[in-house]
Amino acid sequence: MRVDLHNHTILCNHATGTVAEYVEAAIECGTQFFGFSDHAPMHYDPKYRMGFDQMELYESWVKEAAERYADKITVLLGYEIDYLPGYMDENVLSRPCDYLIGSVHFIDDWGFDNPEFIGRYAGVDIDNVYRRYFGLIEAMALSGAFDIVGHLDLLKVFKYLPTGDIRLLANNALKAIKQANMTIEINASGYRKPIGEAYPSPLLIEQIAELDIPITFGSDAHCVEQIGLFGEDAETLARSFGYDKCALYRGRDREMIKF
Ligand SMILES: [Zn+2]
Ligand SMILES: [Zn+2]
Repeated sequence: MRVDLHNHTILCNHATGTVAEYVEAAIECGTQFFGFSDHAPMHYDPKYRMGFDQMELYESWVKEAAERYADKITVLLGYEIDYLPGYMDENVLSRPCDYLIGSVHFIDDWGFDNPEFIGRYAGVDIDNVYRRYFGLIEAMALSGAFDIVGHLDLLKVFKYLPTGDIRLLANNALKAIKQANMTIEINASGYRKPIGEAYPSPLLIEQIAELDIPITFGSDAHCVEQIGLFGEDAETLARSFGYDKCALYRGRDREMIKF
């Protein structure tokens, strides 16, 4: 991946490897713009994210790596923030950095992408769950607080797919994303999950391209081996829908570059 903006650090307590190892792996696979976007602190589910008192440490790690590897790669500083109504924190949202990824990992108290809670899919009206999920994505976009939509259709992770047309279920969310002038990431981590394809799916990327919404790329790496993994598949997928430019951010400003 020429641009890879979604990567984690050990501060989220569910990743391994050092910041330097990640950056060296990115250089190795030809990445030119590599961003860290670790799970931002939140007063909910604190064990899977950095603490509020660790933001400075996180930023110092990323900035040190940016300086150390400046002649080989551009390292960017971001955060992946959970969109969870009632838990949004101004200290995080206003934090100076290059970009904010907004992600939905929770529907109410259900961490639906966590294998620990997979049992809760049994017996739900799956189309209703998709409606709720994309309603949260829509609200996240309309909040205007974020630059990039993280893994747009994460709810498919365990292959619980809607019976209805995904394009209709996601339609209002996509319109809100367009209206908010956000970027959608093509997230390669789906290739290594049960669903076995990128987030978002080809059907949704087709609609995203029709709406002329900018895209970017992310490994969503939680270990060194995942850096750039399935990156070519993600880029090929985007090209097949006519994309030849992707977004990156510096100081919350978007730039478009060829990939
Ligand atoms: Zn994570
Ligand atoms: Zn995520």
